[in-house]
This record gives sequence, C-alpha cells and structure tokens, in this order.
Amino acid sequence: MLITRKTDKKNAVDIKDSRHFKLFLPVFCLLICSFIAFANQVTITPIIESSTHLSAVEKHGQLSIIKGQLVNQYQQDVSLAGPSLYWSNNGWAGEDFYQKEVIDNIKSQWQASIVRAAMGADNEGSYLTHPKDNLERVETVIEAAIENGLYIIVDWHSHHAENHTSQAIKFFQYIAKKYGHLPNIIYEIYNEPLQDTDWHSVIKPYSEKVIAAIRAIDKNNIILVGSQSWSQDVDISAKNPISGFENLAYTLHFYAGTHKADLRAKAQIALDAGLALFVSEWGTVAADGNGSVDYQETEKWLAFMRENKLSHCSWSLSQKEEGASIFTPTASVLGPWSDNDLTENGKYLKQIIQNWGY
Ligand code: CA
Repeated sequence: MLITRKTDKKNAVDIKDSRHFKLFLPVFCLLICSFIAFANQVTITPIIESSTHLSAVEKHGQLSIIKGQLVNQYQQDVSLAGPSLYWSNNGWAGEDFYQKEVIDNIKSQWQASIVRAAMGADNEGSYLTHPKDNLERVETVIEAAIENGLYIIVDWHSHHAENHTSQAIKFFQYIAKKYGHLPNIIYEIYNEPLQDTDWHSVIKPYSEKVIAAIRAIDKNNIILVGSQSWSQDVDISAKNPISGFENLAYTLHFYAGTHKADLRAKAQIALDAGLALFVSEWGTVAADGNGSVDYQETEKWLAFMRENKLSHCSWSLSQKEEGASIFTPTASVLGPWSDNDLTENGKYLKQIIQNWGY
C-alpha cells in the first residue's frame, strides 16, 4: 500500500515534466475559466433578483406599442398599475393631493409603477380659467414622478375637449418641450368624450390635430386617445383607427359596479382588431363614483386586464365622500397612510396595485 502511494506521488511529480502536461495545461485553464464563469453567474443572480426593486422607469425605460401591446425598451410586454389623481380644479376635492409627498408614498407604500395627473380642463376652476394653478399642480406631480421613476399620465381631463383644441395643443406642446425627452411621460389627450360626441367627425379629427402637435416635438412617447361614450366605445374607434402615427393607445374606462361583460366584449373587438388599449381610469364602484365596491365584477376585470396585459390607473386619490375615493375624510393628505386612512375601496386598490408587479 505504502509503495503504491509513493509511486503515485512520484507519478504526480513526474507529470510536470511529461508531454502530457502540455495537454493538461489547456484543460486546467478551461476548468478555471468555467469556474470563473460559473462564479460570475452565481454573483449575477442576485443582481437580476434585485432588479425587481428598480423603479418602473429604471426597469422599463422608453415605452412603445408593438402589435397592439405596450412594450418596454427591450420590447418585452409591460403592464403597469397605479392610482389616478382626482380632477385638479381649484376648490375641488383633488387639488390637495397634487403634492410630491403623495407621489413618494404611492411609490414606497403602494409599489405603484404609474400615476395619472387628471388635469381639469373642463368645469369651474380648471386649466381653462386658472392655467397657472392647475399647471403648477400638474408639474409638481410630474417632477415627483420623474424623481421616483414612475410613469405619469398627463391627462387633459375634459368631456368637451374639441371645444378647446387650441388650448390643448398649447398645453401638450409645453409638456412635450419640457418633459418629452424623458421616458416617464404618457400623454392622454381627451379623458372622456360624451356618448353623443361622434368618433368619426369630432373625436378623431381633434385627436389627429393634438397628436400631430405633440409629434412635432416628441417623436416617440405614448399618446392615449379617448373614445366615444366616456372612453368605452373602443369598438367604434377600431373600425376607423387613427393612422400615420406610432405609439398610440386607446383608453378603455370602466366602473365595475356599472360596466360588465358587455363592455369587455367591446374591448375584445378592439383588441382583436389590433388596437392597443390602456385603462387610464377605472373604478370598483358605480360609474357615478358612488355605491359600494363590486368585488365580484372587479375580479373579472382584473383577470381580463391580466390576460391582455393592460395597464391601468384606478380612480381616485381623493377624500371626497363617495365610494370611489381612496382616502377617508380624516386621512392625512400627504401620508404615509395607515389602513385607517383608507376607505374600503382604498384598501382594496392598494392591495391590487401592490400585487400587480411590473
Ligand atoms: Ca420622447
């Protein structure tokens, strides 16, 4: 036994001088290289895992629409989730929430990837009569969204946008010039046209003018287009879609307490026709903002949005005494918010957004 071991030792020493060493060296190097590569993979793994902690914009970058689907900078499908602010109008229920701290907490407490600034461009106290105040609020939340790496929808919140086309163009050109180089910005040019506002002769021509004005400055950020009947008749838009521009999506708005399978059928027609849909506003309650949470129907809508990888913003960051409000009347406006600050709707929406992922 001893002899054998000695012999082995000798052989081991002798091998250095042997011709076999010339073969052994490259094999050894290969093994070392493989080990280094493996070790690198091991260290890369946690980096990939930690990418889930990147902000939405750090992770996805510039968005675009390919074959009717919102995709990120790597052309991977994206589905974003977050809340919508309430109308920004002076003296209304939403203006107090247009604050940096609110956006900070939407990111840190709710893990939102997107937020919507619903700039009032209709009714009293709106941008049309109080441009400075409303613009200041919108810019406050745009800057906070940029700082937090959130996408932000800049929404012309109106039911009569075609009556103020030149103001809309002026506003969106200002936003495009100032922020259009950043991936964060998504333009929503017409919140909700009314039921008797015709897509073909009114909404589409309005949209084409505003889109052309934005595209003169910002060539690529996503533009959201409204459709007839409070942004529900996407099936009508699908019959006569806007051509000549890229990165357009059509808004689909629903309130689960009112809108059910019939509206999902309209949405399906639009999707089948190749339209990109974006749920820039939705609620768990009735369409007038009242009533209680319709859990059963909301779950059906959530499944529909998951299946079709739709992005969505839920109505709304407000303390107004109505079912759709996220906060109780006594809640801290700026946050951070405890569950006591949230309505039943607010608690449900928080959980939906937190669990959506991005
Ligand atoms: Ca751009």
